[in-house]
Amino acid sequence: MAVLDSLRPEKVFRRFEEITQIPHGSYNLEGIREYLIAFAKKNDIEYIADDAGNIIFKKPAFPGYEEQPGVILQGHMDMVAVCEEGSGIDMKTFPLDLFVDGDLIGARHTSLGGDNGIAVAMALAILEAGDIPHPDLEVIITANEETGMEGASGLDIGNIKNRRMINLDSEDEGIFTVGCAGGARVSCFIDSDSPLPSDGKYIEIGISGLTGGHSGQMIHLGRANAIKVTGEILGSVSGIPGAVITDIKGGNADNAIPSWCSVTVSVPSDAGDTIIESVKAEAAKIKERFKDTDPGFEYTVALSDRATGALSLSVKKTSEFLKALPNGVIAMSKDIDGLVQTSLNLGIIDVKDGKLHAEFSVRSSIASERDDLIDDLRIITSDFGGTNVVTGVYPGWKYAPVSPLRDKMVRVFEDMYGRTPQVEAIHAGLECGFFMDKAPDIDAVSIGPDMQDIHSPSERLSISSTQRTYEYLLKVLSDKE
Ligand SMILES: [Zn+2]
Repeated sequence: MAVLDSLRPEKVFRRFEEITQIPHGSYNLEGIREYLIAFAKKNDIEYIADDAGNIIFKKPAFPGYEEQPGVILQGHMDMVAVCEEGSGIDMKTFPLDLFVDGDLIGARHTSLGGDNGIAVAMALAILEAGDIPHPDLEVIITANEETGMEGASGLDIGNIKNRRMINLDSEDEGIFTVGCAGGARVSCFIDSDSPLPSDGKYIEIGISGLTGGHSGQMIHLGRANAIKVTGEILGSVSGIPGAVITDIKGGNADNAIPSWCSVTVSVPSDAGDTIIESVKAEAAKIKERFKDTDPGFEYTVALSDRATGALSLSVKKTSEFLKALPNGVIAMSKDIDGLVQTSLNLGIIDVKDGKLHAEFSVRSSIASERDDLIDDLRIITSDFGGTNVVTGVYPGWKYAPVSPLRDKMVRVFEDMYGRTPQVEAIHAGLECGFFMDKAPDIDAVSIGPDMQDIHSPSERLSISSTQRTYEYLLKVLSDKE
């Protein structure tokens, strides 16, 4: 028996539940793709299954809507498939165990995939209905959004004729997203340069407890970056001859502000105490500086017997390199108050193949600023004798001063709810950037129902917000100009 049977709109929640019973984490999309194709065949809907793994549906205008501007509805078919630690669930094969708790839908021990299954469900409900008025409709369900937007990146825009696009991959009802950042991942490598001191001691320095956060949405909050902080602390002892870094590790992802970093330094045996005192003094200053944004800041410094680590890079060079690297907000938007336009985050540091490896997430809503920043990183790294690797480049979506779709969606929202929606651009990536890049004349808005804690086992989808968002979407589609 289906768990969501009693929920309305029936078709939306029925399709959503069906989707949750098909494992569809990124790169595990065969099942969901077959489901979508079977849906098209059963309902006699024209479809394209393209080489990038996307499914595109086409449905002609409802009678009387042939002259209205055609619309694209867009969402992604993959989800971040994660389960609670120790639950032993194999997300590749596990149909989700749904439950309803008041207004919320969740899945026991796993993520739910409301992001973005609910978009797929709403689009299918509209496609299969015979009584919903809409202009010429194209529905694009992309593949592997969560891993780097490969589906959107590989989409052939020649398959798409409409130019008004409603993206359904947002998670806050009443907030219209109308711009996003593009970005790239940049890895910097610096070779080992120094021999280890022959009779050295080891000192371990650890930074932890920083606030961290999403490197796009939270980059402007002035929080400490554990790797940059480590660079400053090392700077305080860079005058000690013969001090060499043998190991360094910090941060979990390029797109998260790092909250911890640890480093092992090999020092001449007579310099140990001086170094420990200098590190303590510098760390105390930094702790004071960040006491408001990072009250959890902790540091440790101690002598150690640990003689491991595959690096041998002088403390001086490491600290100068880490201090020279830009980090944080580079430019604010001139069009939208408070919006970060360009930023970068030094998210990971470690040792790879005997080299120091530092990895950045670079973001900008302006392609040329993103590329300039990538170039700055290349120049700085090469000044220190190192090299760069750039991967995962994705385009941004610049705020459009003129947008008939946005105007219409705001008007319909105001008519329905008697209040104005929040219209904003975000300093994070959305697939819309790829569509704009391929067809700059696309007019787009991103919306979606309320969700909590996406990409985690606590993910929840609001039932009432889904109802309202769907009803609103139907109003927008049926609104004649
Ligand atoms: Zn999503």
